[in-house]
Amino acid sequence: TNLIQEQLQITGEATATLPVGPETSPITVIGTESIRQTFGDQTFQQAINSRLAPGVSHVVLNPDAHLGYGAPVGCVMVSPDHVYPGPVGVDIKCSMSLLQMDLEASELESKKVRRAVIRAICERVPTGAGRGQRHVPKSRSVKSRLGFQVATEGASKSVLKNLGIPTHWADACEDASHSAPDGRTETLAERLEWIGRERDKQKRLDTKYRQLGSYGGGNHFGEAEAVQVDQQQTGVASQFGLKDGCVAFLSHCGSRGFGHDLAMMQFRALKSLFQERGQPFPANDPQLAYAHVDSPEGQQYLCDMAMGANFATVNHLLINALVLEAFQEVFPGAQGDLVYFISHNIARQEPIDGQAQWVHRKGATRALPANHPQLQGSRFESTGHPILLPGNPRDGSSVMVANAGADKSAYSVNHGAGRRLSRTKAKKQLSQQAIDQGLLDQDIISNCRQYPRDEAPDAYKDFQEVLRSVKQADLASQVAHLRARFVIKD
Ligand code: 5GP
Ligand code: MN
Ligand code: MN
Repeated sequence: TNLIQEQLQITGEATATLPVGPETSPITVIGTESIRQTFGDQTFQQAINSRLAPGVSHVVLNPDAHLGYGAPVGCVMVSPDHVYPGPVGVDIKCSMSLLQMDLEASELESKKVRRAVIRAICERVPTGAGRGQRHVPKSRSVKSRLGFQVATEGASKSVLKNLGIPTHWADACEDASHSAPDGRTETLAERLEWIGRERDKQKRLDTKYRQLGSYGGGNHFGEAEAVQVDQQQTGVASQFGLKDGCVAFLSHCGSRGFGHDLAMMQFRALKSLFQERGQPFPANDPQLAYAHVDSPEGQQYLCDMAMGANFATVNHLLINALVLEAFQEVFPGAQGDLVYFISHNIARQEPIDGQAQWVHRKGATRALPANHPQLQGSRFESTGHPILLPGNPRDGSSVMVANAGADKSAYSVNHGAGRRLSRTKAKKQLSQQAIDQGLLDQDIISNCRQYPRDEAPDAYKDFQEVLRSVKQADLASQVAHLRARFVIKD
């Protein structure tokens, strides 16, 4: 039974609010009726806990929402002056990126050719937990000095040049570089040196630097797509650099072991600080430990989040450079360009309700429409930036653009279809043979001999219904559909 579900106040086909108390503005819920049925009471309860946590001004639950740690995955948490490391999560700046090739999709018709591209990519970009550069023959070697520069500078000109990444790709990033909250360039360097020295982590940091340019395990993937531009959106599509009928490559990964270690270090430190002070956790949940942004612990968290984010940014850009190189090995002379790189696990300072606030996107994607002040001077000022939404290999993925109506969700949309089944349930309930046959029927191949059952299309919610929710709520419109041609998973 769904007790909280019944308290929803329906305001439109795909919009509702959930009251949490007389003094508190309600939670915004996005999703059609059938999507709202996918939210269990525990997910709602996590949203309520997040909304009632100190300093929080607004919470949005998106169609892909499901149970998370502390806050649901698929939610937005807004605060003028507090930061919540739990909802940012262990994979700081987990993100999506899209590389547009100038290659006709028909060039990938042959399975043999696709296998050659998969091989060329897997020779350059390792997959799997703990995997790094030394596990593949054609990676770029990133040693400690460059790794340090990556973490402290992000996608600076010098870092990109050093790694052989096109420098103009920095302009196709939601954020190319993240700095310390005080804006001093030395602050991050001092902090990272301190972690290596005082925390005795230098060896571990050096190992993590050698993971730059890798996918990692679990839900991370690379996928070749056939781009199908929506006919009413050809103008926006060309502004995005999308090419109808051509191949594109979608990547999903984050900050690897480097970001994970920083996040874990922060969780532990913050948890002990709460315990030392006898300070209660919101809803008794240590995952909702928080810091005031002006406190020393808040400033330190923002530094570490910035470094994790810098690592994730360069990780994605390097992967894209290596994927481009792999395509060129199979198709000599083929050209490619980055469409966009955008995160779904990060806190950013943005103008909300007329004031600068920290927008925590936990499995949510920024969605700034045309002429939003934060797009001023960017390539996407007159259109809104590209929103990259993975669905699943069988039903495809989507490139969208925000509508003016995105103000109702703190300028955010979902980050995918969202999990329907837990990994354990998926492994138990889904048939391996049906999954593999389903992909074969759609002529989608993969590097895995058996597709991971907990990553199967049916482990996720109905992507069409998720997209319908986004459109009905007037958050965003589709610019292009991406049809999978092959998938690279762990
Ligand atoms: P996360 O796992 O980071 O929470 O979410 C990633 C989203 O990616 C999921 O909600 C799901 O919709 C989508 N997804 C997962 N695996 C694949 C895949 O292999 N291909 C595509 N296109 N999407 C995927
Ligand atoms: Mn991730
Ligand atoms: Mn992710």
